[in-house]
Amino acid sequence: MVVEDVTRVKDYLNKTKLTTLDYVINPYVGCPNKCIYCYAAYMSSFSKHSEEWGDFIDIKRTNKRINIFKIKNKKVMISTVTDPYNSYEKKYGTTRMIMEQLVKSEAFITVVTKSKLVLRDVDLFKKMKHVEVAISISTLDEHLKKKIEPRSSSVEERLETLKKLKQNGIRTIVFISPIIPQITDFKRIIEATKEYADEYWFDKLNLRSSFKTKMFKFINEEYPLYNPIYENIYNRKNTKYFDDLSDEIAKYCTENNISFKNFYAGT
Ligand code: SF4
Repeated sequence: MVVEDVTRVKDYLNKTKLTTLDYVINPYVGCPNKCIYCYAAYMSSFSKHSEEWGDFIDIKRTNKRINIFKIKNKKVMISTVTDPYNSYEKKYGTTRMIMEQLVKSEAFITVVTKSKLVLRDVDLFKKMKHVEVAISISTLDEHLKKKIEPRSSSVEERLETLKKLKQNGIRTIVFISPIIPQITDFKRIIEATKEYADEYWFDKLNLRSSFKTKMFKFINEEYPLYNPIYENIYNRKNTKYFDDLSDEIAKYCTENNISFKNFYAGT
């Protein structure tokens, strides 16, 4: 069960220290998608909830309209620590309200989601000057997806969403993230999506705090053969696995004329 609450905020818009962005908008605090690797779980400490991350959601409300002049030509991401089209968006419509305010903005807006609900707002995206939608995919295996991302749209739904976005003239990105060592097959994902993707983004699985324990437990139960690899990457901090993969991504994308950004390369 997910505990729902309304929280008043000063502004939907937040300045960010993320170097590739200027502002972020997170319409919710908490994310019911409950991905086992969720990097945003640290946000729990900023909330008043005692429930586990994924078992609460605060619906943000403010009377302040988004200052679209302040974000002219700025990079704005929706969202970084929640899925803006999570299942509660259907009921509360916070993201839709925000998008309606952004329609006339001249910001460079990137929407990141794992949900087919994003298609509901295509009418608004079509009116925006600069908008792109990134669909996150870590695996094409539905069975595995159910285990690691239990409450988000199926793989098939995400592929269909990508296709419909593209058919509607929206710029699309496939965000291959997180890259789960030995599990995420980036080439297969590209092969399955290349007709409908304008660009590919990559980021690796980062494991900190409580979700490191969860992920190690999952690997131990489902893929015990990979234990030494995870031990090497996440406990011994050996960077070779992801360094080699970064080279492979660059080579593959260059050879196949694929536009890409690797967010972990060089980190
Ligand atoms: S969709 Fe993103 S924010 Fe939500 S649980 Fe999954 S990883 Fe966390």
